Amino acid sequence: MRTILLLHTGGTLGMMPSGEPASLAPGRFLDHLLEQVPELGQMARLSVEVPFNQDSSCLEPGHILLLASRVRAAAQAFDGFVIIHGTDTMAFTASCLGFLLADLGKPVVLTGSQRPLAFVRSDARSNLVNAVDLACRGIPEVGICFGTHWIRGVAADKLSVHQFEAFQSPNLPPLAEIGAEILLHPEVGQFVRQVPPGLGDRLDLAIHTQTPHPGMAWSPAPAQARAMLIQAFGAGNLPMDREDLRGALEDARRRRLPVVVISQCPYGGVDLSAYELGRRIESMGAISGGLHTRWAALAKLGLVLGAGGGIDEVREAFRVRWAGEPMQEGAWSQV
Ligand code: ASP
Repeated sequence: MRTILLLHTGGTLGMMPSGEPASLAPGRFLDHLLEQVPELGQMARLSVEVPFNQDSSCLEPGHILLLASRVRAAAQAFDGFVIIHGTDTMAFTASCLGFLLADLGKPVVLTGSQRPLAFVRSDARSNLVNAVDLACRGIPEVGICFGTHWIRGVAADKLSVHQFEAFQSPNLPPLAEIGAEILLHPEVGQFVRQVPPGLGDRLDLAIHTQTPHPGMAWSPAPAQARAMLIQAFGAGNLPMDREDLRGALEDARRRRLPVVVISQCPYGGVDLSAYELGRRIESMGAISGGLHTRWAALAKLGLVLGAGGGIDEVREAFRVRWAGEPMQEGAWSQV
């Protein structure tokens, strides 16, 4: 039997019918799980820890770093890891862990649910069973198991507030389709690991994020910002006729703040060569984030800035595929 460490961090899955979080004590949480889903005990030898227990909207960088270091410290003792996490920020945690644990060599499966485990009609039971099953398979991926898919963490986003199929990786086929059988993608676990050394002690998220809309007023990044992340229109277009936008980009250039451009569209990504506007943005020093999700882009920025990197290191980070994240169109063949 495989040994699995299950880290419960909160969210809807563990909530009681009253809406309260489940008991904090790991032993009692394991009892709660086994009472609701007794088959988990037949699938693996489970150990449970509760590093924190909260709504995932309250996630802070320290929580993610704590998870990464706990998994790393326990890597020899367990065959796989399941992380129960609230859905709201699960894609960000999965992106950070996808980079931080790229070389772990063991499965790290994040899951959660849209309805609590304690409810009769709930997606929690099947999500948990599938997550433990995947964690037992020895596949070196950090991914989200939710509904009928297992998807790579660094490509994931939450696209539905209420559907049981809450997560997708719009620019990468799923790692597995979960039905009567679990059908694994033939290239699951196979990607080049090129995360730069020395990352992971800090996640600096002093990032000025902007999601433009027509008519938006632009202003320079605040003094404490260390980078800008702009979620631009379509292939990476911005209203470059706007003087205030040009002023904000010029200000960033003067301060040597990295400006990364990703797309508001979940499907496809940025190609700054596609339009005149994109070429103008690039000529002002902006860096294309290609097909990075906002979560993967934030994770990369946070890790590079946290390690003391500046504009050159950020530019390099968005040029190199660190851990199988989609970067350009036709992504699967390149990861
Ligand atoms: N607000 C919850 C959370 O992210 C939502 C969920 O778990 O589905 O913790």
